[in-house]
Amino acid sequence: MIAARLHEFGKPMTLDRIPVPEPRPTDVLVEVKACGVVPNMTRVVSNFFGSLSTERKMMPDLPAIFGLDPTGVVTKVGSEVRTIKPGQRVYINPARRCGSCRACRSGRPLDCPDFTFQGYFGRSQDIMKSYPYGGFCQFITAPEDALVTLPDNVKFEDAARLGYLGTAYAAMKKLGVGPGVSFLVNGISGQLGLCAAMLALAMGATKILGTGRNVALLKRVKALAPQCIELFAFTEGKGGSDGGVATGDQAAFMAWTKKRTDGYGVDCMLDCLPPGAPAAAMMRALYTLGRGGRAANVGAVMEVLPLNAFWLMTNRISLQGSVWFTTGEGEEMVAMLAAGTLDMSSLEHRIAPLTEINQVIAGMDERNGGFTNFIIDPTRAD
Ligand SMILES: [Zn+2]
Repeated sequence: MIAARLHEFGKPMTLDRIPVPEPRPTDVLVEVKACGVVPNMTRVVSNFFGSLSTERKMMPDLPAIFGLDPTGVVTKVGSEVRTIKPGQRVYINPARRCGSCRACRSGRPLDCPDFTFQGYFGRSQDIMKSYPYGGFCQFITAPEDALVTLPDNVKFEDAARLGYLGTAYAAMKKLGVGPGVSFLVNGISGQLGLCAAMLALAMGATKILGTGRNVALLKRVKALAPQCIELFAFTEGKGGSDGGVATGDQAAFMAWTKKRTDGYGVDCMLDCLPPGAPAAAMMRALYTLGRGGRAANVGAVMEVLPLNAFWLMTNRISLQGSVWFTTGEGEEMVAMLAAGTLDMSSLEHRIAPLTEINQVIAGMDERNGGFTNFIIDPTRAD
């Protein structure tokens, strides 16, 4: 098969011919039909995460096959696989765990100390060696319990977005997003934030507030559901409005959120800020929470937060970090996609063959915020 392999960090991948792997007894072999390309892949292949000072080596040995969100068709199953059959359409949840630690044995795979993303990076070199195939190749092995099955009416290119969707979804379940609950998405027009907005609508949320900087993109987000999405763009001025999007500074933003929550403050907030965003941009969203407010962070702020613990205590505020999602949560999202309650029709799929992997990764700055969905389809010849 053809696999795009990275031989040196910071250099282009090369298309190499390697053997099609054999699935182990509890694994399956999947022919990849579409694999999402996350904008963060640019930082992964330049060894950003390998250069952070962590107690573990986070990157796989090279050459390595990347590709975080693969979808495809099962072509072969291991001798012990009972339920999944060849021909089934699936999304492969790339979250790998050791399987036998205390967290894994208690049904909390995302808390496994060896948590590792297949086709990306992670905390266990052993797991990376067991599952060395990312989605940027033609065939990939995966454990049977990592498969989210896809009904025929769920498109591979939509399912290849499940990484971002699931990251938002697992956090939103912790926040209790739903009808009658005010929900603020900090950074709503990006890859994660837009997924949060689409999911909030599917989950029955009735008051979705969002922040951003690009007014044109925010107008597109508002168009998803003008009656329940209200947006604020941070600008220099004191406060105003631009085509249905409120604008202004931090003080104007605080007043805007109070006015939209009957003076109580926001019930829950999901931080979806992109890499490089300052701590202050997260704090101004955190401070919109009312008493008993809940916040979850799935964004990429890396600065230390100037957080007032006394404010946190007296206002009974919760702040939680969240990473990725379980395979069961993947099935829930696919059920919403199949039922049509989760509407992803506003995405623009940009589908490229494997031969263009380097150009796709290099060109991801050219996108319409979260609306552009980058996909590699290894079945396309060129
Ligand atoms: Zn474990």
